[in-house]
Amino acid sequence: MQNTVTVIDHPLIQHKLTIMRMKETPSALFRQLLREVSQLMGYELMRDLPLTEIDIETPIQKMKAPQLMGHDPCIVSILRAGNGFVDGLLDLVPTAAVGFIGLYRDPKTLRPVEYYLKLPQHMNNRPVMVVDPMLATGHSAIEAVNRIKAEGAKDIRFLCLVAAPEGIAEFQKHHPDTRVYVASIDDSLNEKSYIVPGLGDAGDRIFGTK
Ligand code: URA
Repeated sequence: MQNTVTVIDHPLIQHKLTIMRMKETPSALFRQLLREVSQLMGYELMRDLPLTEIDIETPIQKMKAPQLMGHDPCIVSILRAGNGFVDGLLDLVPTAAVGFIGLYRDPKTLRPVEYYLKLPQHMNNRPVMVVDPMLATGHSAIEAVNRIKAEGAKDIRFLCLVAAPEGIAEFQKHHPDTRVYVASIDDSLNEKSYIVPGLGDAGDRIFGTK
């Protein structure tokens, strides 16, 4: 299978992730670090966004200058932990539109069920960044990308902080055309589907809940 996973191993990202993993790191610092990491990861993820040239005039002379091509990118946050990525990406692309998808796990079927959906328009011709800090079983990510593809989106990138090998394999099986950007591929999943060693429940760590 084609390798569609990019591990962004920049030292700053790795250093910040280590602090985020520490169980004593408080939510305020965790949130701040996630914002910083999302800026650093977003910079890499958007490295190949297509450019066009426009005519401008500097105080000195006219020139052709590069500008992002087409419609503004959009961000789709998988609730609720995905929201921790949104502000950092908006710092980079303030004009991006932001969509949200909420999924819960049906206790009987263990399949993800959609409970909330609000997506930007024209997803068929704009880059879409789907964000969720943890790619564990992969089920939510797969379902979210299914939903986004149903809107016609073609350029989809999935951004997460920590992934389990099982989640990556499952995601690639369903979406071999969607590139995954991740800061760390950890060891495994435990019996409760938490990533090991991971960082715990990302939503709880971001929002200070238990
Ligand atoms: N979701 C989390 O927040 N953490 C995990 O380890 C797995 C899924």
